[in-house]
Amino acid sequence: LECPYVNALLSVYDKANLIDLATALSQSGVRLLASGGTAKKIRDAGLTVEDVADITKAPEMLGGRVKTLHPVVHGGILARDIPSDQQDLTAQSIAPISIVVCNLYPFTSTIARPGCTLADAVEEIDIGGVTLLRAAAKNHERVSVLSDPADYADFAKAWAEGHGDVGAALRSRLALKAFEMTAKYDAAISGYFREQYADAAGGERAATGPAQRLALRYGANPHQKPAQAFVTEGELPFKVLFGAPGYINLLDALNSYALVKELQEALGLPAAASFKHVSPAGAAIGLELNNAEAKVYGVDDLKEPLTPLAAAYARARGADRMSSYGDFIALSAPCDLATARIISREVSDGVVAPGYLPEALEVLGKKKGGKYCVLQIDPNYVPGEVETRQVYGVSLQQRRNDAKIDAKSFDNIVSKSKDLPQAAITDLIVATLALKYTQSNSVAYAYRGSIIGLGAGQQSRIHCTRLAGSKADNWWLRHHPRVLALPFKKGVKRADKANAIDLFVGGEVLEGGEKAQWEGLFESIPPPLSAQERADHAGQFDGVACSSDAFFPFSDNVHRAKKSGVRYLAAPSGSVMDEECIKAADEHRIVFAHTPLRLFHH
Ligand code: 5GP
Repeated sequence: LECPYVNALLSVYDKANLIDLATALSQSGVRLLASGGTAKKIRDAGLTVEDVADITKAPEMLGGRVKTLHPVVHGGILARDIPSDQQDLTAQSIAPISIVVCNLYPFTSTIARPGCTLADAVEEIDIGGVTLLRAAAKNHERVSVLSDPADYADFAKAWAEGHGDVGAALRSRLALKAFEMTAKYDAAISGYFREQYADAAGGERAATGPAQRLALRYGANPHQKPAQAFVTEGELPFKVLFGAPGYINLLDALNSYALVKELQEALGLPAAASFKHVSPAGAAIGLELNNAEAKVYGVDDLKEPLTPLAAAYARARGADRMSSYGDFIALSAPCDLATARIISREVSDGVVAPGYLPEALEVLGKKKGGKYCVLQIDPNYVPGEVETRQVYGVSLQQRRNDAKIDAKSFDNIVSKSKDLPQAAITDLIVATLALKYTQSNSVAYAYRGSIIGLGAGQQSRIHCTRLAGSKADNWWLRHHPRVLALPFKKGVKRADKANAIDLFVGGEVLEGGEKAQWEGLFESIPPPLSAQERADHAGQFDGVACSSDAFFPFSDNVHRAKKSGVRYLAAPSGSVMDEECIKAADEHRIVFAHTPLRLFHH
């Protein structure tokens, strides 16, 4: 078809700046085609415009649902500058369209209106407009697509200056904008329908079935509403069996489960973690507890023997009982009765596990009057390779940290001492995997398959090393014979005992009411541990493993670690002080491995 004109198609909901653009195009000799309302507006301004219906020879129909959806329109937009496409246009008497001006029905503002019904929302789904934008953007080698009234003036100027050729760069930018526009539009539509159709039956309270979306009461804080958890494909990898998880519960559950799953995979034993504020307070594998450990971890009173999973949780929960108060628990294996019994008597927010034995679920279902959060996660779920989040409106995207930690991670021993026994490798794996899921900076001490001290979220590395070290010191002091024999009165609650022991081993000087209250917990008032008793006990502390999520910038970290019984140390290399740190390790006969991975986590 001989076409003396450049054809522009205009179909806009938002008619801002429309007349200025139409005037400019028309003055440059561009032939204007427009859909109903857009054509009327242009005509009312005294410009010449043809109705799309006149070229399609089909009237707008279905109350506007079909206006521009026609081969004459889309053939005109999509045709390339190649002979076969030109032949097709000629055969069908279709004129090529070189400029598409379109913006969409306001779906987002419509659904935000109070009282908006599903039918209102459905009617606001733009079909033809999205098709116009997508077709024009696809064919941007030849076609310019204007999806934003703010771009009209610059485009008209470029059009005039280029005598009808705005250049490939501008066409590309406009095409990208149109693609972003339709993507955002579709996301708004699927978001709306996810809210309508994808919730598990019962919403946030009883999401017993599989669901794509879970409404949350609020986000990180009560005023952060609305809040939700969702996936865009398939179903959420977990079901809510009891309770209603909050936003932070889910952050804890998803991070802690990832940790225990990897611990079990790496070490072949059931694993457990006790999370608070998106960092582990404890994490461990299910090594059997000896008598002293059973006492330190507060499970010596249990009649029945612990299963490996119960031992893992006893260790995870008992490492830092203060921090674990009100924890979110992750279990790598289906929860059994022994584990459920330990959980049932602790103050805790919730648990995530790949399954629950019926007798275990019965126990957990009674906790907090049925409000205790119990999540069942699909152990076969594999998260996507790329993760995205938004901070202050900016999307940040990265490959998920899917690095594997195993014995090979500690191959590169740089100290003079080279002897890394299997048990030490296990502890280094436990410590290092815990750091992978700990807010950075972080340093962890591990012993006998358990985290015994963890310093999370400190801006300075030495503060992490000290914090984790002082926790490990307290943990070790809790093994002191005088602590194991503290004469508590009958009926003192577990949490009160934990607090009292923490004050005792911490050497805190108490006064007034706090002192009276503390002393009131005991049959006879225990004298404080002397400096000599502390030193003697600390002298027996050895064989601890310590890992750091990034290199040690100064050797003070190595010296500090040694004070808490560290014999095996792991950290990435890369510091100008690496040599100094190795020297410090050699001074203390520490086995120091340079790991190949930095493990920052935020
Ligand atoms: P007008 O005001 O010109 O009548 O309509 C403009 C609006 O209709 C634009 O927002 C455009 O995206 C939309 N539109 C254009 N063609 C079609 C179509 O075939 N079907 C539907 N549902 N919307 C269309």
